[in-house]
Amino acid sequence: MKLADGIRKHGFRTWYERELLQSHAHLVLTFLCMIGVFAAFEAMGRNRSWFDQAVDIAAIGLFAAVGIWALRRYLYFLNHAEMTANQADCPQCKFYGSFTLESEDTHEGTVMVCCRKCQHHWKISS
Ligand SMILES: [Zn+2]
Repeated sequence: MKLADGIRKHGFRTWYERELLQSHAHLVLTFLCMIGVFAAFEAMGRNRSWFDQAVDIAAIGLFAAVGIWALRRYLYFLNHAEMTANQADCPQCKFYGSFTLESEDTHEGTVMVCCRKCQHHWKISS
């Protein structure tokens, strides 16, 4: 979910929590795909027909491709959440993660926010 939509719908802290959960769900998928790759390698080592071995090779390719995709998504969501969280401190009063969304600049990829404690405005890039 985009930062502006997430803040508007759930607030920053819930958006951040969901980004981390989504990130780690992809990490779990990566782990399961690695188990699938190892299981397919194990099954391929036995004496079986050429068709079964072709299916094992296809499974290895499929699990590897999905695993690499899931690992990339894990790193993307994690980095995006952390980069945004590093900008969530109010520059004036240092209060963390408590702000309201003022505006969104989709061209720059930034959002203008306002601190709930001291009403200071600053820009967060996403
Ligand atoms: Zn503040």
